[in-house]
Amino acid sequence: MNHYKSKQAFEEAKGLFPGGVNSPVRAFNAVELTPPFIKGGKGAYLYDIDDNRYIDFVLSWGPLILGHGDSNVVESICQQAQKGVTYGAPTLMESDLANLLCQRFKSIDKIRFVNSGTEATMSAVRLARGYTHRPYILKFTGCYHGHADTFLVKAGSGIATFDSADSAGVPESYAKLTLSLPYNDRSAVESIFDQIGEQIAAVIVEPVAGNMGLIPADKEFLVQLRAITERYQSLLIFDEVMSGLRCDFVGAQNYYEIEPDLTTLGKVIGGGMPVAAYGGKSKIMNAIAPLGDVYQAGTLSGNPLGMVAGATTLMSYDEEQFERSVALLEDFCQTISNLADQYQYEVQVPHMGTMFSIFFSSKPVKNFDDSKACDQVLFKRFFTKMLEKGIYFASSQFETNFISLKHTQEDLQTTAQIIEQVFSEMRLEDGA
Ligand SMILES: *Cc1c(COP(=O)(O)O)cnc(C)c1O
Repeated sequence: MNHYKSKQAFEEAKGLFPGGVNSPVRAFNAVELTPPFIKGGKGAYLYDIDDNRYIDFVLSWGPLILGHGDSNVVESICQQAQKGVTYGAPTLMESDLANLLCQRFKSIDKIRFVNSGTEATMSAVRLARGYTHRPYILKFTGCYHGHADTFLVKAGSGIATFDSADSAGVPESYAKLTLSLPYNDRSAVESIFDQIGEQIAAVIVEPVAGNMGLIPADKEFLVQLRAITERYQSLLIFDEVMSGLRCDFVGAQNYYEIEPDLTTLGKVIGGGMPVAAYGGKSKIMNAIAPLGDVYQAGTLSGNPLGMVAGATTLMSYDEEQFERSVALLEDFCQTISNLADQYQYEVQVPHMGTMFSIFFSSKPVKNFDDSKACDQVLFKRFFTKMLEKGIYFASSQFETNFISLKHTQEDLQTTAQIIEQVFSEMRLEDGA
């Protein structure tokens, strides 16, 4: 496989963008490679400018549940574009997507659309602070909630890869209003609430963490968060920007049967367009302007292209189709585990819904420390060989892989065969 044109393009991009990219993880820093420059995608496949084809398990980091260039989604966008791209005024398209989401997410009575997951979590936290009149936010180390100042306190995702605990530019006085505890650690939660529970506006959590690799929360952990926030009248925010419509036909709140006060959504709900949302109980949502005194706005919020792409995506598959893909992925993950055993690599392959991770670890991964303790060197070797053979996995062990409903059993079998080749090559190199 040659990457001649991508290498050239990346050199040029480095003169245009910091690190050559518009979002850090795209730079392939964790694996020290040149990222392929993409010129197209169709279904489960991605094509780069050197004419290489990949089976794509990144899917734009989650949104493309119907794969690339789904014909219904593309058609809905084109049809809408002909009638106008944005109006900055109310449309029926917004109510259509809102209805679809409120039907699926029982905890959401009212919703507000924004343009990115970052905006959704930032706004949900402002709402929580405005509604409760309390200053503190509790989050969990390794969970990623976008790049707003509040959250860049021992953040996961891209920053984890760069192994830096914080971001420059976030004032200490602001950062100290965010408390960060280890994921799945119930006694730590109990003790922080003992100390300052009355001042905690909200607990925000990825109920299925996807930004330190895939780590589904222990059910007892989420049950405890629900109970303790109720006891102290703090709000519980489920950040389902990634897990929503991915870890389950609905989301983690459906899977675990726990109702948060507020939910943030993104990724899948825009069908590949920049759409995100936050929503929850009417009583809380009514605190937002113009009804209430918590300000939040957006020139392109609820833009018609995003609304129709999202609604078309949601209407294009049913639970049965979703579950078929879940079953395919389950078999695939089992196959990966078996192959790892066969070639004597210690690997964990957690999966949930249409999400999965491959951790090079001998023990189950439960929190950020476990994730960081995984063998990054083995991961890098594995990733590099897979990419070279046309498999596009997430380029960092701190990111999650996805399948779309377009990934066939054959695609997964092909991938499994390549995994076997790669394990076998690695074994030879390691002098088995
Ligand atoms: C991706 C993600 C975000 C941020 O969304 P952007 O659209 O990238 O700003 C927030 N929370 C979670 C859980 C995410 O996975």
